[in-house]
Amino acid sequence: MYDTIIIGAGPAGITAGIYAKRGNLETLIIHNCESALQKATKIENYYGFIDGITGDKLYYNGIRQAEKLGIDVKNEEVLKIEFCADGFKVITNVKTHLTKSIILATGTKKNAPKIKGIKEFEGKGISYCAICDGFFYKNKTVAVVGNGSYAVSEANDLINIVSKLIMLTNGAERPQIRGDNVEINSKPIKEFAGQDKIEKVEFNDGTDLKIDGAFIAQGSADSSDFARKLGIILNDNKIKVDENMETNIKGIFACGDCIGGTLQISKAVDDGMVAGLSVIKYLKIH
Ligand SMILES: Cc1cc2nc3c(=O)[nH]c(=O)nc-3n(C[C@H](O)[C@H](O)[C@H](O)COP(=O)(O)OP(=O)(O)OC[C@H]3O[C@@H](n4cnc5c(N)ncnc54)[C@H](O)[C@@H]3O)c2cc1C
Repeated sequence: MYDTIIIGAGPAGITAGIYAKRGNLETLIIHNCESALQKATKIENYYGFIDGITGDKLYYNGIRQAEKLGIDVKNEEVLKIEFCADGFKVITNVKTHLTKSIILATGTKKNAPKIKGIKEFEGKGISYCAICDGFFYKNKTVAVVGNGSYAVSEANDLINIVSKLIMLTNGAERPQIRGDNVEINSKPIKEFAGQDKIEKVEFNDGTDLKIDGAFIAQGSADSSDFARKLGIILNDNKIKVDENMETNIKGIFACGDCIGGTLQISKAVDDGMVAGLSVIKYLKIH
């Protein structure tokens, strides 16, 4: 069992890891190579780089620095976090890791699908959490929007509850999923439509399918997806933390872009330092 697992290897997660490891914590950092940093062609406003540095180089420098300190760094996709007897289970596309504490450093949401109707029907048939809302769709027809490991994980939480599950890939590759009540539809989506609540999904080719609800699971899960399942308080989709970067759930901390504020490296590094030091203090008394 790890003392702490950090989800994210951007500036916030790596800094948290450096402080945690130097505080003697058995530390694992998990990332799936999707950092905001990698999109930055040149960073010229961060301390210490006279000629600037590309975001991609800074990202992998951080990972190398963590590995040199003896931190386990794994390239896996986190699908779920669950409570267990002595802490938490972090379930990835590769295996389940056990830990006494967690630091969420997943950055901001990527890949949110821009499909007409998603915003309008939030809470009226559009959901972001299968384990939280699946029960409301007992014996009904639901769709899961997405085609990756996270979408399959969400679908697997629904398969035994709903009567029919439709995976909507929205034009993307078909996912690997099986089930007697599972159908895969790869048509590009035009919009979700209905009167007071969602009633159907319409496709670009003019056809439609009747559905009672749709779960959005495109791309990887981010901290707000984990938060909804664990009961962590969100503030406008950002994780709410106190001055120690601690969430309302004991043992779970968050830092960097996923808690909001100024979305810059310097701020993510500062948050990461506070989270790393806080987790050391937390484990001394728990
Ligand atoms: C185009 C662009 C240019 C920018 N330019 C600058 C600049 O010049 N100066 C500046 O200060 N800031 C800049 N920024 C902002 C800066 O990149 C971010 O503020 C910073 O990277 C945030 O750090 P973070 O650690 O919070 O998150 P990120 O760097 O986004 O890291 C998130 C980490 O979480 C991991 N992750 C997420 N979900 C999962 C999952 N389900 N499973 C496993 N791992 C997961 C990712 O793989 C990644 O390692 C720029 C951002 C962009 C997009």
